[in-house]
Amino acid sequence: MTTILITGTNRGIGLEMAKQALAKGWTVYGSARDVVNDPDAHICSHPKFHDLVFDVTDHAAVRAAAKSVSEPIDILINNAGIIGPERQSVLDMDFDGFARTLAVNTLAPLAVSQAFLPHLERSSSPRILTVSSWMGSLSHAKSDRIAYRASKAAVNKVMQGLATDLQPRGIAVVMLHPGWVRTDMGGAGADIAPEQSAAGILRLAEGLTLEGTGRFYNWDGALLDW
Ligand code: NDP
Repeated sequence: MTTILITGTNRGIGLEMAKQALAKGWTVYGSARDVVNDPDAHICSHPKFHDLVFDVTDHAAVRAAAKSVSEPIDILINNAGIIGPERQSVLDMDFDGFARTLAVNTLAPLAVSQAFLPHLERSSSPRILTVSSWMGSLSHAKSDRIAYRASKAAVNKVMQGLATDLQPRGIAVVMLHPGWVRTDMGGAGADIAPEQSAAGILRLAEGLTLEGTGRFYNWDGALLDW
């Protein structure tokens, strides 16, 4: 039976992935900055849902959470992320906000992956999926939300490196764009519902093998440009 760890399961795409993974009968470790106790979410009281409480930028807390988990993890989804500060144009940058964006979107996925590596290594089919964004693609010359774009471009590079180094250890690592999704981040006018995005990401996770490692996928399984 599959065991999955998803960061940021208190709302948005992460919450929907947790719900759908539970519906598949999987064991779910869901991380949040606070205990997930929203009764509408119907996950907090599920017997196969386990809360892990940490801020993804607190590396000591991440390592402590990893120590508290004894079972192997088959799938890690680095989902938690932020859009970044209000002022994030190249000509008017909130640098503290930029640094915070990098800490959450770029450094944290690596720190979480490192902390849970021993758990992944005990799985027969270990996979790491990092929720990046099409906005990080270097093939677009857009300059709005540059802290966010840079953090996602950077996490793609970090995860590509992780894919290379973990391939000999049998661990597949990919990055993905979840679509433009109707969440707090995506807004009400976005293209797709969290249900659709989450289903696509879990489908990708289920089908992922070492053959696909190092790639940048769309939520529907298509390959994306860097
Ligand atoms: P939401 O804003 O709805 O949810 C973000 C999640 O990340 C929340 O659970 C939030 O927890 C968590 N989070 C943020 N910062 C931290 C932190 N420091 N420590 C722990 N958890 C944290 O966003 P989405 O669900 O829309 O986005 C999920 C992922 O998808 C992100 O990586 C985002 O960049 C990416 N994405 C989303 C798109 C969209 O259209 N929605 C498009 C492209 C990419 P808390 O409630 O505590 O803040």
